[in-house]
Amino acid sequence: ARMRVAVVGAGVSGLTATKCCLDEGLEPTCFEQSQDIGGVWRYTEHIEAGRPSLYPSVISNTSKEMSAFSDFPYPEDFPVFLPNARLLDYLRLYTEHFGLRKHIKFGTTVVSIRKRPDFATTGQWDVVTEADGKQTSHIFDAIMVCSGNFSEPSLPLHSFPGIEKFQGQYFHSRQYKHPDVFQGKRVLVVGMGNSGVDIAVEASRVAKKVTICTSRGAWVFGRVFDHGYPWDMIFNTRFMSLIRNSLPGPLSRALINYRVNQWFSHENYGLKPEQSCQMREPVLNDDLPSYILTGRVTIKPGVKEFKDNSVVLHNCPEEEPVDIVVFCTGYNFSFPFLEETVVKVENKHASLYKYVFPTHLQRPTLAVLGLIKPLGGIMPVTEMQARWVTRVFKGRRANVSSPFLSALFFFSDSLRFGLSFDEVLKVDCLVYMDKLASLIGAKPSVLGLLCRDPRLALTIFFGPCSPYQYRLGGPGRWEGARQAILTQWDRTLKPTKTRVLAGSSSPFPSLLTVLGFLLLLAALFFGF
Ligand code: NAP
Repeated sequence: ARMRVAVVGAGVSGLTATKCCLDEGLEPTCFEQSQDIGGVWRYTEHIEAGRPSLYPSVISNTSKEMSAFSDFPYPEDFPVFLPNARLLDYLRLYTEHFGLRKHIKFGTTVVSIRKRPDFATTGQWDVVTEADGKQTSHIFDAIMVCSGNFSEPSLPLHSFPGIEKFQGQYFHSRQYKHPDVFQGKRVLVVGMGNSGVDIAVEASRVAKKVTICTSRGAWVFGRVFDHGYPWDMIFNTRFMSLIRNSLPGPLSRALINYRVNQWFSHENYGLKPEQSCQMREPVLNDDLPSYILTGRVTIKPGVKEFKDNSVVLHNCPEEEPVDIVVFCTGYNFSFPFLEETVVKVENKHASLYKYVFPTHLQRPTLAVLGLIKPLGGIMPVTEMQARWVTRVFKGRRANVSSPFLSALFFFSDSLRFGLSFDEVLKVDCLVYMDKLASLIGAKPSVLGLLCRDPRLALTIFFGPCSPYQYRLGGPGRWEGARQAILTQWDRTLKPTKTRVLAGSSSPFPSLLTVLGFLLLLAALFFGF
C-alpha cells in the first residue's frame, strides 16, 4: 500500500507538500480548516479567528522569479513583485496544474495528532479531524505540518506600562485593513518590522502625524535595487553568497554595512540597527526614506510608558500626544494539535533538526514546514523542505538505509536549532537550500556544468539563484529548468519594458561582452 501522509494546511507550504507527496508516489490528504487554498495570501475583508489576516495593500517582498516553485515559473505578464491577489492567482494556477485540489479536504480542522501506541515500530499517527461539528479519526503513516505562523498575534501589553490608562484607540496590525481609520489622527506605530513600516507609510497619507517607534532599528532595502533591478535577483547570487561566507565575520559585516547604506545613511535617518541586531530581518520598503525626508513619518526610540493621551519614549524628554496606536509586534506560533513532547515551542523557538524534523522522535515521520524566515522567497525554501521530507518518509518506508537518513540520526541528538530569523540569517539561505538539495541529490554543480554547458554554469553562478537551479538534476528533475533559468530576466523585464522605442538599441551591453567579462571573473576566481 502507498504511504499515507496527512498535510496540515493548504497555504504555500501545504500545497507544495501535497505536490511533493504525489511526485514521490505517496498518498497525501491535505486538511484545510477554511474553504479555500492560499493561507496567508488569501485576503479576506473579514478577520477570521485562527486564520491569518492581511491588509489589502500587501505586496510580496520577493520578486516573482525568486518566489516561484522550482518547476513552475510565474506567467511572464505577472508583475515583478506580486500584489497579494496575484500571488494567490499563482497558487491557484499551481494547484490546478498539478491536480492538487482533489487531495484537499476543505472546512476540516485538525484537532489532534498523537503517536500511535506502536509508534516506535510503525512511526504511525492517530489524527482526529473535525468538519461540520463532527469528529473523525484517521491513521496516517506520516505528517507534514504546514499550518503557518501568522495566525496568532503577539500583543505583549505587559511590555508597555500604562497602556491600561491610555484613552485613545489601540490595536494589533492584524486588525488593520484600510487607512481611513487614521484620518486626521496622530498615529504611533510600535515595532519596525515590515507590517509596521507598511502601515506607517499608508497612514501618513491621511494622518495628521505618524511616528514609528523602534527599540532596535532595522536595515531598510528597496524592492527597486541597483539600476532598478529587483533586490533579491541582485543580492541572492551564488557569487555574492560565496563572498559573504568566505570573508571573516567583521569584514563581511562591514561589507553588508557599506552595501545597505549606499541608498541612504541609516544613521542619519534614525534607522541604524543596534549593534547586537545587525542581522535582524530587514525591512523592504521603497517609500520610507522619502517619507522621512518629507516629514511624513518620524522615527523614534522604543516606548517607555503610555499616559492618558500621550506616550513617553526612551531618551526623549517630552511626551508625545497620540490618538491611535498600532502594535506591529509580530506573531507567535504554536501547534495546538500536537503534544508538547513532539514539538515544544519556547520563546519563539522550537527544537527542530534543520528547522524541519523534531529532534527526539524515534521515527522521522513528522515534519514542520515553512517556519523559517529566509532572506528571500519562502516558496522555494518550503518546497525544498518538502522534497527532502518526502524522500526521508519514503526512504523509511522502503527500508533503505539512505545517506540522508543516517545523517539525520547522526545529528538529531546533538544539534538544536532555533527558528528565529537572526539565527537563520547566520545560516545563509542559499547555503541552507544547497544543503537540503545535496541531501536529495538535486544540488546543481557549477563546476560540472562549466565544461558541458558554460553559459548555464555562468548564469547559475553569477546570476540570481533562482529556484529552477534545483530542478536541473536528481529526483524531480524538470526538463524546462535550463530554459527557465536562461529566460528569467526576460520574464522579469516583460511586465516593465512595455514601451519599446522603435529602432532603439538595447541599453544592455551585448551578451558577448557580458559573457566575456563573466568568463574573466570566473577564470580569476577559479584560478585562486
Ligand atoms: P515582526 O517582523 O515580527 O516585527 C515585530 C516588531 O515588533 C519587532 O521587530 C519589534 O520591533 C517589535 N516588538 C516585538 N515585540 C516587542 C515587545 N515586547 N516590545 C516592543 N516591541 C516589540 O512582525 P511583522 O512586521 O508583523 O512581520 C511578520 C512577518 O511578516 C515578517 O516576516 C515580515 O517580513 C512579514 N511581512 C511581510 C510583508 C510583505 O511581504 N510585504 C508585509 C508585512 C509583514 P522593534 O525592534 O523595532 O521595536
